Amino acid sequence: MKHAFLSAAAAIGFAVLLAAAGSRGAARGSDAGADAPSAAESAASLTAGARTEPEAEALVKADYDGRFFLPVLRDGEIESMDLQTYLTGVLLAELPERFSQQTRMAQAVACRTYVLRSYLRRRHSPAAVCTNSGCCQGWVDPQTVSPARREAALAAVRATDGLVIRYGGELIEATFFSCSGGKTEAAAEVWGSDAAYLQSVESPGEESAAHFRDETEIPLTDFCQTLRAENPAVSFPAAKGAWVGEISLTTGGGVSRIELGGQVFSGRTVRRLFSLRSTAFTLTLTDSSAIFATRGCGHRVGMSQYGAEAMAQEGKSFEEILKWYYRGVDIEPAEL
Ligand SMILES: [Zn+2]
Repeated sequence: MKHAFLSAAAAIGFAVLLAAAGSRGAARGSDAGADAPSAAESAASLTAGARTEPEAEALVKADYDGRFFLPVLRDGEIESMDLQTYLTGVLLAELPERFSQQTRMAQAVACRTYVLRSYLRRRHSPAAVCTNSGCCQGWVDPQTVSPARREAALAAVRATDGLVIRYGGELIEATFFSCSGGKTEAAAEVWGSDAAYLQSVESPGEESAAHFRDETEIPLTDFCQTLRAENPAVSFPAAKGAWVGEISLTTGGGVSRIELGGQVFSGRTVRRLFSLRSTAFTLTLTDSSAIFATRGCGHRVGMSQYGAEAMAQEGKSFEEILKWYYRGVDIEPAEL
């Protein structure tokens, strides 16, 4: 029989973690921009300190992932899946194939951290996660792709076996997204809950991303109707100059608040209403349309996949990438 816990030591470790984690609200790994993860951390009560490098190495070779089984919600059914297979499938779903190995490794560690945290917080209880990328993390059955693709993903998972990201001893909310458009957002400014490790950082070199810059054009009548449905108090006088009022921006360059039709909307609300790529947008009104020009793709909090790839191309390691996007964190084995 296969079990989720490898050993008594691991079980005790996770019991401690579970007590520390409590049960928070919805989390979100791979974006889309709906409800916020509860990024605020409760006080950690872990007893294990940071491990030294040689100890970490020894544990990495112990094949943690292959022996840790997760209940995964897939197509409405709960499937018991070992962490190695799960993470390989997540990499296949979440990262472009052409990305380099250090980026895949950074992504593997972020996704492992995300799923273990979700497991501890009983997201989808009794499942740990689902395979819907709009909710948790996407997943592609590794058996359905070419051997070369599968091997590349599996190699990244194996090379980071058991490694997770912690801040102050607690697993972090390892959020990630496609591209920031140049700068990421602080969690506090997007979701209202602060996390010391989720701050706004520069993220250069993402220009090759398909949605680095994008445009969404909405017919003016739809624009007005959509806003009116959201807030009936809006008004749109003949002079369009009065339609757009004050705009406040976040540190990461996203729209925090914007006044439209005399009413204030959050950038996230506007993003949701008009299915924008991100909250980093400018708005231009023409005679017939509202044109949103967006920068970046995703919630833009945490690790930028295209930014990570740019760092990998410069020769940075997966650890350097993770420590750039998640500030002040430790990368260490999951087993305590
Ligand atoms: Zn889910």
